[in-house]
Amino acid sequence: MNSHQLFRRSRTRLALWYALVMGAILSLSGLGMYRSLVQSNWAAMEREMESIAGTLHDSLEPMLPASEDPTAVLRRILPELCLAGQPCNTSPTLIQRHTTGISDRSIYYIRLFDHSGKLLAFSPNQPPSLPKTLNRSPWQTFHAANGVRYHQFTTILHSAYANHQANEPSSQLSWGYLQIGRTLATFDAETKRIQWILVIGFPIALLLVGFSSWWLSGLAMQPIYQSYQQQQQFIANAAHELRSPLASLLATVEAILRLPPTNQHNIPVMLQTVERQGRRLSHLIADLLFLTSLEQNSSPKPFQPCCLNDLISDLTEEFLELATIADIHLTHQIPNHDVYVLGNESQLYRLVSNLIANAIQYTTLGGSVMVSLEQRDRTAVIAVKDTGIGIPTEQQGRVFDRFYRVDGDRSRKTGGTGLGLAIAQAIAQKHQAILKVESQVGQGSIFTLEIAIVNN
Ligand code: ADP
Repeated sequence: MNSHQLFRRSRTRLALWYALVMGAILSLSGLGMYRSLVQSNWAAMEREMESIAGTLHDSLEPMLPASEDPTAVLRRILPELCLAGQPCNTSPTLIQRHTTGISDRSIYYIRLFDHSGKLLAFSPNQPPSLPKTLNRSPWQTFHAANGVRYHQFTTILHSAYANHQANEPSSQLSWGYLQIGRTLATFDAETKRIQWILVIGFPIALLLVGFSSWWLSGLAMQPIYQSYQQQQQFIANAAHELRSPLASLLATVEAILRLPPTNQHNIPVMLQTVERQGRRLSHLIADLLFLTSLEQNSSPKPFQPCCLNDLISDLTEEFLELATIADIHLTHQIPNHDVYVLGNESQLYRLVSNLIANAIQYTTLGGSVMVSLEQRDRTAVIAVKDTGIGIPTEQQGRVFDRFYRVDGDRSRKTGGTGLGLAIAQAIAQKHQAILKVESQVGQGSIFTLEIAIVNN
């Protein structure tokens, strides 16, 4: 499987997992929301029914007759109800009066039973084919003959007369039962409406989740893909860099082996070439290993105070001979007081020495290189300034890339690996310092390192 396929497959897998998890969360919250909506509607409806039943109950109880056959009194106090077993001819006002302002009044009905559960009176709008005997459970939900669902609440009625007979058993204290019910048509319609919203909204939400998952997984894979490509590029560059000295080394060895006995005196010169190429290889591999160890942070040696004055004096002294050979005037400028920073001394040496080596290498005969140290507030600024060939503006951003060379051939010939500035930048980053370049072609370059100072 090539890397492109691998990344595509990983992205698809990631997107699927995203979609699955988000879909599950969405379904659970949708279901939870649906249940809580339906339950709160149901609870509100039951509260309303209880309150209507309570109001009716309180206004009816004082008026209830004591007689065994209460129909005559009921006809008087509840003229809007039909009496059981008699022709029904009423004007609906009572239920309407008691439900005024609460809800749609026509959806409610009431029924009155005597204490033995025999139907006495009922609203004309009660559901068709309701049984004439009482079901005593307080809450009931049922399907009527017309297919509509109803919900009803039953409560006990006591008459003033019955309350006076306090020594009688409690079943005989009750005058009868008041039943209040309502159609669930509006409730069911509302529930259906919520279900429809979910049925239509859920696939749309899932679709959006799918798209956003794909997009998000793309975003998540991007840095990994970029880093993978950088690694690939790095490996390709490293292989390329290793190939040239290795090929030249092998060619020289082959030439030595085929050398006729008469030309044996050439061997030392050829071996010198072998040695040079071998050193170049070893240098390159050492640089690569060092860069890798810097990036992996594999030597977590604690930072220590380092005196930058000493560092610059030592390095200028060290490079003086090289500069003299190249006919370059190397000088340094450091403040009178010591400037300390926290860091890894050998790495800081490596950083500044790479900058000075480059400055000498890319400055023509008779030029000058100046290394300076100054303190600006809490920052130490080391500048390596040369009067060399300079770097074109458009390439200044890339000189810190691994193996990047402004003039490939030229710096390769001078023995450069193209890793010097990449190493310097990695060290700077490790010390939370800023390394930057300003340069003008033909005028020279200034590399500056800004690093926080520490009180010694
Ligand atoms: P190299 O080993 O080739 O010197 P570096 O990483 O040190 O690699 O530098 C990268 C490139 O930046 C060099 O090839 C060179 O072209 C350019 N460069 C670095 N320092 C200077 C400088 N002081 N003056 C001009 N060019 C420079």
